[in-house]
Amino acid sequence: MSQPERLSAAVALAALSDHPYYRYRGCAPDPDNPRVAAGDNSVSVDAWQAPDVDGGEEREVREARESAAVDVCVGCPVMVQCLAYGSSLTPEGKLPEPFAILGGRTALERTKALVQERQAAPVPVAAPVPVPVEQLRTEQKLAVLRGLARHADPELVAVAAGLGAGLEGLRTAKWQIARLKTQLSLPKSASRAELLDAAVDRGLLDRQEVAAAEAAAGPGAAGPAESSPFRSGRRRAGRRGRRVVSVPGQLAFDFDDQAAGASVTTLYPTTTSLETAA
Ligand code: SF4
Repeated sequence: MSQPERLSAAVALAALSDHPYYRYRGCAPDPDNPRVAAGDNSVSVDAWQAPDVDGGEEREVREARESAAVDVCVGCPVMVQCLAYGSSLTPEGKLPEPFAILGGRTALERTKALVQERQAAPVPVAAPVPVPVEQLRTEQKLAVLRGLARHADPELVAVAAGLGAGLEGLRTAKWQIARLKTQLSLPKSASRAELLDAAVDRGLLDRQEVAAAEAAAGPGAAGPAESSPFRSGRRRAGRRGRRVVSVPGQLAFDFDDQAAGASVTTLYPTTTSLETAA
């Protein structure tokens, strides 16, 4: 069931205070004793507000105070208008008088109702704002897009974009590809073809240039089958149970290799051999 629209606090307060019975409200000071409520002389006029005391109010005291105040509200001639005010919203979207009992509802009850209402409301989804094409037309982004038109493998894209064959170039290429997807309002899972299409649509690449680059690269460029000379041997050799590191500039090590196995034994003698040596 949809909630009634909340009034603005200013409008609701005017409706309450202008009501002809407002002067007879239960929480008004009694004319004979301004310290007690007109609706019930056994209730203090302060009962509608939480007292400002160090450490807060004890629970039993608070419950007794709130219960007495709410009982007066129930017999109040402007309870409906008062509750409308207590449920209204300030220009900042907050409840008015956040610590007061209004219209027979405690501050906590009014707050909980507002929170539940907001949680139940559908969250508005903002339409993605397209990034100005000038922001996309950087030298590196355009180079990555041109590299992507020629290659599917990010390592080859990095090389083609002039980012280098090392890990840093690969990382930059991947970062730029991910960034371009976001800036072109594509999902993270967008394919290379979808990214190129979006780039062509935004005028970052020429469609004929993309087609020519793909034709020149051959059918292998369109899919993940394309292999890079920089690809780590770990991925290929891993399927055979081998662990090979082939990062350029670093040592290669193959644990399946008999000679390598022998060198490991030599470098790290077993406890038994150490004891024997001792
Ligand atoms: S409903 Fe309660 S808080 Fe509101 S005017 Fe009446 S007595 Fe006061």
